[in-house]
Amino acid sequence: MRNIESSDQFVNRHNGVSNRDLPEMLKAIGVSSLDQLINETVPDSIRLKAEMDLPPAMTEYDFLQELQQTARMNRTFKSYIGLGYNGTITPSVLLRNLFQNPGWYTQYTPYQAEIAQGRLEALLNFQTMVSDLAGLPIANASLLDEGTAAAEAMSMFFAQKNKRNKGEAKNQFLVSDEVLPQTIDVLMTRALPLGIEVVVGDWTTFELSEATFGVLLQYPGKSGEVHDYRAFAEKTNAQDIYLTVATDLLSLALLTPPGEWGADAVVGNSQRFGVPMGYGGPHAAFFATKEDFKRQIPGRIIGVSVDRHGNKAFRMALQTREQHIRREKATSNICTAQALLAVMASMYAVYHGPKGIKAIASRVHELAKALEARLTALGFEQVNSAYFDTLRIKADAAAMKAVQGAALEAETNFYYTDGHIQISLDETVNLDEVDRLAQIFAQATGRTASTTDLPDVGARIPDALARESEYLTHPKFNLYHTETNMMRYLKELENKDLSLVHSMIPLGSCTMKLNAATELIPVSWPEFANLHPFVPTDQAKGYQKVFNELEAWLSEITGFAACSLQPNSGAQGEYAGLLTIRAYHHAKGDTHRDVALIPDSAHGTNPASAVMAGMKVVVVKCDEQGNIDLADLKAKAEKYRDTLSALMVTYPSTHGVFETEIREICQIIHDNGGKVYMDGANMNAQVGLTSPGIIDADVCHLNLHKTFAIPHGGGGPGMGPICVNESLKPFLPKHVLVETGGEKGIGAVSATPYGSASILLISYAYIKMLGKRGLTNASKAAILNANYIKARLQSRYDVLFTGAKGHSAHELIIDLRPFKSMVSAEDVAKRLIDYGFHAPTLSWPVPNTVMIEPTESESKDELDRFCDAMLAIREEIDEIARGDAAPDNNVLVNAPHTLQLATADNWELPYSRSKAVYPLPYLHHGHKFWASVGRVDNAFGDRNLVCTCPPMEAYEEDAV
Ligand SMILES: *Cc1c(COP(=O)(O)O)cnc(C)c1O
Repeated sequence: MRNIESSDQFVNRHNGVSNRDLPEMLKAIGVSSLDQLINETVPDSIRLKAEMDLPPAMTEYDFLQELQQTARMNRTFKSYIGLGYNGTITPSVLLRNLFQNPGWYTQYTPYQAEIAQGRLEALLNFQTMVSDLAGLPIANASLLDEGTAAAEAMSMFFAQKNKRNKGEAKNQFLVSDEVLPQTIDVLMTRALPLGIEVVVGDWTTFELSEATFGVLLQYPGKSGEVHDYRAFAEKTNAQDIYLTVATDLLSLALLTPPGEWGADAVVGNSQRFGVPMGYGGPHAAFFATKEDFKRQIPGRIIGVSVDRHGNKAFRMALQTREQHIRREKATSNICTAQALLAVMASMYAVYHGPKGIKAIASRVHELAKALEARLTALGFEQVNSAYFDTLRIKADAAAMKAVQGAALEAETNFYYTDGHIQISLDETVNLDEVDRLAQIFAQATGRTASTTDLPDVGARIPDALARESEYLTHPKFNLYHTETNMMRYLKELENKDLSLVHSMIPLGSCTMKLNAATELIPVSWPEFANLHPFVPTDQAKGYQKVFNELEAWLSEITGFAACSLQPNSGAQGEYAGLLTIRAYHHAKGDTHRDVALIPDSAHGTNPASAVMAGMKVVVVKCDEQGNIDLADLKAKAEKYRDTLSALMVTYPSTHGVFETEIREICQIIHDNGGKVYMDGANMNAQVGLTSPGIIDADVCHLNLHKTFAIPHGGGGPGMGPICVNESLKPFLPKHVLVETGGEKGIGAVSATPYGSASILLISYAYIKMLGKRGLTNASKAAILNANYIKARLQSRYDVLFTGAKGHSAHELIIDLRPFKSMVSAEDVAKRLIDYGFHAPTLSWPVPNTVMIEPTESESKDELDRFCDAMLAIREEIDEIARGDAAPDNNVLVNAPHTLQLATADNWELPYSRSKAVYPLPYLHHGHKFWASVGRVDNAFGDRNLVCTCPPMEAYEEDAV
């Protein structure tokens, strides 16, 4: 609840409901106090009795003041470390209008295509950009980072090969030692539970054997060398071995793309397309491949379809491949990816266009050559024969030490490795900077750098590998090169999309709460934004302070002993957490424990992650109340007592209920030798009230992009740290380049040790500004809001699955099955658009229902508007039932109604225009949102899959 008066308390800005509204809401719910509601909702047996050991609340102003001090503890040296992360210039027009704009960053994943055409178009641009540059026809709309993208390629090809090849398993994956070290780390972790043998070595001597299913190369290599892989690719192609190439998009403006010389998949990170390094993220990784694999490609893929009026419309394609449908047979567990950053990178390409991108790439390359000339003149030997942006300078121990000393003094980082100094240049460099870098080497050797009479370096991109094909030829990459045009294009797309700037997004399980400006602002501060993830740790002390505190707080909130901030999404947290369980069993010699019990109501990522962790999924039933069927659980736990590894359980359940038997459930698992993994997506109902530790789970992940205020970004970024109890603490993930994790830790699960480090600041700010009381208050307010909606809707809708005392937790499920003969849940979802709202979670966890989660950030007014809309829709259903509206031609099945339709000269529908588009008075007062297209035809799009930008004429059609 909001505190009385003091408007400088952040809790009063974060929580939507005021003390003035409270009595009426409590009365509607039928309780006399908020505490009564909470006591009746959260079972006493699991209530947190003591106050959490967390800091007190800070005002927004005080927090920013203090964080500035912390920021200054980071040292913003110029980094030329490379290894997949480079300096970049974020065009100001993108920084202001996109990255820092809640109209973009508070969007949800574009499941409701009719109110998401803006970001869908931007993501289609991303796919087109990746596809063009990589030279392959299909690309997805982002993955989490380069390491996991490479791992996705490995597992996709492993599955593909062994599907076709029913005999001897082909399980060998050859990885060039020119692949980035963090990518190899992530691959090793991923390969282990799947039984894939990763062999790292010199690609020139690779022996392609009967067991080899795939190869991974890096182009340009880790050393910076641009290897000519063409003959090698011919060999892999001839032997039907899948070739994946990790690459740098900018280099492909100058180099022949891997798709043109035989790669089956091309992966990498688009970070240097305008997205700051952020000490490791977030950035959008990419994945391009051939047509053959379009149904296997991991992550979201955007496609082109048509709406009911025949107009072109975008939507997420092939959703049936995803975990929500395919569960343990899904191609990958990727759910949240990096949508916002993919939009950033695509807009960078839109703004610069093909000529601009080529100019940037050429300048970087020429400056690298200019630096080589200067260093050669100083007597250094540069060993790469062909390179794009990276020099590799030979240096004995003494020279290395001297250069490192001079570089540190000049606040500059190079990469020092096995007898060489590597320098990767980027678009922030100019000729003066090149001279400054040469000066560092000169000073280290006591010589004078010269800028005249320099040796001619010659061609460093061999003719044979120089790119000839065109890219980014589509008009979208050629129309918006002035700031005016770019600004308007961004606004045009933003205006098509409904986000939290318009109305509540009541998505059950996804917790779309306030993403406060004060939480977001520090992410763009240079002290946080410009750090390379592999700088010496003594340059990142500010970040270390934030991590240490955040780890301690998240451990306290979950009631656990330790925390790893590495996983980049909830699903990655599941995977990481299950791997710690696997490692625990293996450490005890219980290598045969590989069964994961998963309730049938679990989120689709659960079974998909379990399979990735090498586990066999056994499904546990739920009863009619949506609770885990205790008898079935017990029977299965006992049946598999010798092989039981883990139970994955969501708490409160995916049905939005605090199951009273949760302790007993955990006990059954422990008694049979298993560990309990708690899916923490529903932490918003728990913080300060109970915890995974109290219910006796062993590990959980937290979706920081749900409960802890990181914005959803239209489908990412996110963060999914895991918290564990003492027994699993030794197994927390490590990282090859930075010391972190448990003493017997599993390998890396992300490319960087702290995942998308820069957005951890958001959750840090959230906890600091709410403080221990505010956090508990927020949980209570979330439960209050959900129960208020329930109170208002329950006379007209069936509310499924309430707790022992008839309350919901922080979300509620409304049953639409009784109306199935008339309208579907989808019709209701689309009709809500006409009422200015985003649909709740649709048909999950129960088909033909909607799951509503208002969060604590919504005010009573907004909750009332939403309830009014839901009740009006209920009336509209009754009209069909009564025969007052045609079953196949009514406001529901025709929804959403577009502006073009409503203002067309002909109106042929059997109801009035105002009923169609202004059905309630509040819509006249600033709450109207127009769908930019009519109902989108998903099946058509899947049958005619197009996932790059369609011809321009398609954008200009304006038929109704
Ligand atoms: C959101 C969610 C996940 C997956 O999280 P991502 O960050 O999207 O990978 C898992 N389980 C539940 C219950 C969720 O709501």
